[in-house]
Amino acid sequence: MQTLRLNAGQVEEAAAVLRRGGLLGIPTETVYGLGANGLDEGAVGRIFAAKGRPQDNPLILHIPSADRLERYCRDIPAAAYVLAGRFWPGPLTMILRRKPLVPDAVTAGLDTVGMRCPAHPVCRAILAAADLPVAAPSGNTSGRPSPTTAADMLEDMDGKIDAIVDGGPCAVGVESTIIDLTERPPRLLRPGGVTLEELEAVLGEVAVDPAVTRLMGAGEKPRAPGMKYRHYAPKAPVTVVKGAPAQAARYIRRHIGDADGVICFNEFVPLFEGHPVEPIGPAGDPAEHARRVFDALRYFDGTDVQRIWAQCPDPVGIGLAVSNRLNKAAGFHIVRAE
Ligand code: AMP
Ligand code: MG
Repeated sequence: MQTLRLNAGQVEEAAAVLRRGGLLGIPTETVYGLGANGLDEGAVGRIFAAKGRPQDNPLILHIPSADRLERYCRDIPAAAYVLAGRFWPGPLTMILRRKPLVPDAVTAGLDTVGMRCPAHPVCRAILAAADLPVAAPSGNTSGRPSPTTAADMLEDMDGKIDAIVDGGPCAVGVESTIIDLTERPPRLLRPGGVTLEELEAVLGEVAVDPAVTRLMGAGEKPRAPGMKYRHYAPKAPVTVVKGAPAQAARYIRRHIGDADGVICFNEFVPLFEGHPVEPIGPAGDPAEHARRVFDALRYFDGTDVQRIWAQCPDPVGIGLAVSNRLNKAAGFHIVRAE
């Protein structure tokens, strides 16, 4: 299949791809998504095939506004509308009870569905023009880091999807926050662009799923099916080094092997001369780390590094999402520099 390259102005062409059951690479403010008509089982099935995604890992349904929630969801709690009023359009996915209209292929047979209203203007224009709920996961091959540019997505999906719309680099850079509103208290399943602190300010108590901060044990059943899979991982093993930035950088410098690469804060690049280095922004700027982290992880797949050492922001604000993605990329192989 030849993958058509569309620009941000070709909204009608993009919507036509969705309407005829095709696969579309879509820019969102979080990461690029792999979208299809969420009411068409066949189209949704092709998303799983293109990504090599396990069938039991459900997708998110993207809608243009909160007033569409009732079409696809039932027993919607008042909190959903409060959250939508505060954070939509934006990087927040709410888990709600689904109506029978939503195909099993989207929800992996679950009684719930993930709903999101994205903020990217091009994505919004496509959703409006297609007039369909768009089912989409991130646009990477299953297991790889999520794509934050059209070029990154084409690296994985060229020839496997009908078209991709280039909407520029993603402003947030990590996937949406997922909050399960079918539980009490609501449960954070994935940290993302909307922070835990912001959710707590609206909802009061929020439970944080254990899978956000640690590796699930062999006998544990994850709440979100996606949590059990290896994620975001480059080919070389990753070691995350926590601790004060300067200490962590010195720790890496002491332990680094000749053939190793580094993901570090901008300030510490000179410490690693002679090694492949991906700076992810100044130490104090976790929003920039979020924008750069996936691209940094991807970069090393084009090198022959033996190991990747990674600095990591504190797990507060959007730093929680960055830390979660790096920890997962490392298979929770984390050391602390004291
Ligand atoms: P991705 O953004 O590529 O990670 O794909 C969508 C994410 O949403 C996956 O992590 C899914 O496990 C999660 N998800 C989608 N629907 C549900 C649901 N009904 N319950 C829990 N998690 C969900
Ligand atoms: Mg994904």
